[in-house]
Formats: sequence, C-alpha cells, structure tokens
Amino acid sequence: MKRVLALVFALAITTGALFFSGCGTVTTEDLQENAKVNIPDDKYNNYYQIWVGSFCDSDDDGIGDLQGIISQLDYLNDGDDTTDDDLGVTGLWLSPMMPSPSYHKYDVTDYYNIDEQFGTLDDFDELIKECDKRGLDVIIDLVPNHCSFQHPWFQKALKEAEQGNFDGYAKYFNIEKVEDDTIPNGYNVDPNDSSIVYESNFSDQMPEWNYDYEGTKDEFEKIAKFWIDRGVAGFRLDAVRYIYMDEADKSSDALKWFYNTCKEMKDDIYMVGEDWTGDMNEITTMYQSGIDSLFSFSMADSSGKFIADVVSGAIGDLTDGLLNYETKTKSVNENVINAYFLTNHDMSRAGDFLEEQYLEKMAAAVYLMTPGNTFTYYGEELGMETYDEGDDPAKRTAMIWDSDNLPNVTACGIDRVEDNTNGGGVKQQLADENSILNFYKQCFKIRNTCPGIARGTMSALPDSFNGGDGVGGYYLTYGDDTYLILHNLGDEEQTFEITEDVMSDYKIAGMLTAKDGEISAENNSLTMPSYSTVVLHSTK
Ligand code: CA
Repeated sequence: MKRVLALVFALAITTGALFFSGCGTVTTEDLQENAKVNIPDDKYNNYYQIWVGSFCDSDDDGIGDLQGIISQLDYLNDGDDTTDDDLGVTGLWLSPMMPSPSYHKYDVTDYYNIDEQFGTLDDFDELIKECDKRGLDVIIDLVPNHCSFQHPWFQKALKEAEQGNFDGYAKYFNIEKVEDDTIPNGYNVDPNDSSIVYESNFSDQMPEWNYDYEGTKDEFEKIAKFWIDRGVAGFRLDAVRYIYMDEADKSSDALKWFYNTCKEMKDDIYMVGEDWTGDMNEITTMYQSGIDSLFSFSMADSSGKFIADVVSGAIGDLTDGLLNYETKTKSVNENVINAYFLTNHDMSRAGDFLEEQYLEKMAAAVYLMTPGNTFTYYGEELGMETYDEGDDPAKRTAMIWDSDNLPNVTACGIDRVEDNTNGGGVKQQLADENSILNFYKQCFKIRNTCPGIARGTMSALPDSFNGGDGVGGYYLTYGDDTYLILHNLGDEEQTFEITEDVMSDYKIAGMLTAKDGEISAENNSLTMPSYSTVVLHSTK
C-alpha cells in the first residue's frame, strides 16, 4: 500500500511551522530557509583551508595577512544561525604562518612566532578570539618533519659537525660525516664541507628533524603547548609519512607519541595528518597512531573518486569506493574521522577538471555529503582555476573577493592577479542565486542542520534499490537518526519508488540541484533530475 508522503520537514517541525506541498513539489528554498542549525561542540567541522598570504591583505603590501582574515570572517561564518549570507564553514585550516624565508613557509626558522609578513602573535590571538565568537575552530599547519636550512639550531648543528662535534645540536637532525663522496639517499651536502651530509628529503633547504633523539620530542612538545595555550583546536600535520622515510610503522609510532602528548594538554585536540598515498595498508598503519584524521588523498585530485566519478557519472564506483574506505579505516579505530576534500594547495584546482558550473556543484554535493570532516580549499566555492603556469604558486593565487576590482595580492610569487573564477568573485556570486558559491552555502547548511551526516556510520543500500541509471547512494546512521544520501550522476531525470525496505517514515532533509530541473516527491515516488542530490531522514 502506498502511503501519502506528507512533505513535512524535520526543520519545519522544529521551528513550529508546517509546510505542505499540494502538488508534491518542494523547493530547495523551502527546506533550507527553515532549517535549524545544530552543530555539536565536538571534533567534527566543515573546514576551510586558507592560504594565508593569498587570502586578504589588510595593509596593501600585496601580502595576505591575519588582519585580512579577521576582516573576512563574517563571510566564512558570521556566528549568527539566523542569517544565510555566510558560507557556513565551521573550522579553519591556516597554511603555515611561522617565520620562514620562503613564500610558502613550510621551512620554519622559529616555531614560536608569526612571520612578520602576516602579522604578530597579538594578531593571532585576536584571530582566535574572533573565531571563537563565531564558533570557528582553528587548526594551524605544523611542520614536524623538517625545518628551514636557516633555522638557528640547524646552523649551529652544521658548524659543530664541521668541527667534528656530533653530540650537540647535530643530534636534533640526521647529520653524518661521509668518508667518500657517496651521498645517502634523501641527503644533501653541507655547502661548507663536502664530507658533511644531512637528511633533507624535500630539498636542501629543508633539513629533517631526528625523532630518535628525545630532545627533538621535548622541543615539539613545547611547540605544541605554545600553540595549544594560544587557543588552537589542533594541528594539520605536514608530511607525516616522512617522519621516518619509508617506514610507516615508525612514523605511526611518532605520530602516536605526538597525538597522546597533545591530548594530555588538551583532551579534545583535533589532528589531521598529511600522508599523500593511495596505499590503504599505509593509511591503516598510520591510523593505528590514534590520530583523528588523515586526508583521503585517494578520493581527491583529478583522478580521485570525487572528481573522476562525477565527471564520468560512475555512481556505483563512487559509493563502493567510499564504503570501502570508510570500512577499512574504521576497522582500525572506530573513532576515525575521515578527511575528505577535492583538492588542496599542492594540486591543480578542482575547477581545472570540472570546468562546468554544474559539475563543480555536483562534485561539491558529493564530497560535502560524506561522513567525517570536509576540507574546502579557498576559492573552490568560486570555481577558481589554476593559473597557466601550473606550478605550485599558480595553485595558490589571490582570493577573488570582487572580480570587478581585483585585489593586488601577489604573495604566492606570481606578479599579477587574474579573475580565475567561474562566475565572478564573492561579491558577484553572493548576488547570483544560481552561483557555485550559493550552492556551497546550501551544502554546508545541510551539514550544519543534519549533524548525523558528518558523524554517521556508512552502510550500503539494499540490492532491491533501483533508482535508474546514475542514481545511487548510501546510508549514514547516527544514534536514532538515519540519513539516506542519494545522488543522480546520470544524464537523465529519474523517477523511482522509495520502497519500505529502503526507508520508511522519512522526511526530506536536503535537496540540491546542480543543473536544471526540479526535485519532486509524491507519495513514495521521488523524481531526481540529472545532477541532483536528495537527503532523506528517518528517526527510530
Ligand atoms: Ca598585508
């Protein structure tokens, strides 16, 4: 027997209003304008990755800075649940800000300060305070694997080694004397003494810290305490797989030590590690450290499931891949919070591969409806593309606030600013209800009104489900709540039954149309246009 599906939304009930639809058609606006934000105070967030030097420049020196970020916080999250003109992210990942000779600042000379290009520690404290007001958790990029060639301790270490002393500062690093001209793999030569070599896997400007020495651990404990005391929610840990090159077990042990050390200082510390690998054995080994999150690189980038499967319409491949990833990682530690993203500062921008606005929106709907934490690279919500150069600086160019008035921000090392958006800057896209930016706002609104999406456990649809070509999805179960995420990645509109064994007594909690057409629901029949997403919700 078919039941009449009353289109009464969970959010409508919570606000005391009831919405019925006589013709069985509901609109996205109906749902989201009335949605009630519900963001528990835990480790789950919609993170936004800011490249500090390129985001917003407060003093017109061409370099983005901390005061610039503060001035734009209301765009990211204004802290007022009743307004809808902010993006709706709930956490920030700030790229490295500590003093460093490079523009990218992944080679640190002082782990206890802010680079003067970006501001001061007072500015940082102000940023944390302003983020706290808005419910934004801040994690900072911490580089535990290597420092700058110019770090004073490394300079002292080299000088001592040149004098034959390997028991002083040299112990913080992997510095050796070689008898012949053989340079070990991953090492570079001291420019002042060709018999002295030091481990530096990334570049001769980035000597590696030695974690076999307790003094190194003591130092990083102090560094962590310094920033935790200043109010960070946690750390994005750079290059964790290199802590012990090609030795995942030992790197995982070092991570475990660091995570537990920080947890003693701050019980709810959040940590996400960068381990750029598609090798699931390595990922599960690293998750044995107990770290909350590792970035899911196998899902990201142009060849990753989010972008590749959206472009090819391979919904089954996408959902199988996600289920497999969730199951394997959570078998190591049920508290794992996977970290899903499209691209980051080391990859060509998502806009390069997606190109069309509807594909950029659909990719957003796909990765922003996953469990765990999501990471959105600044400008992705504008469809920004990589500059023609294609090198690292070209992936880290100025945020476009107003495409009619381009900012003079060239801190990434490219001496011009282009409008590389797909539909204009923030100003233009806020004013266009069909913009990519407004679509991202809808996605975050769904995450912020349905806490069980981020926190849920993923499971597969029953074999009996048949949504037609291109339609598929998965369940997310969290306590008494079950969400059914359905995407149509096909070229055709599909109308299908939600049978009792798929879900009963559900309400529609979210609707996203990335292209044309309208989502509609009548009785237990659901119509999903090509490139659309529906979130159904049932409560036990
Ligand atoms: Ca500046």
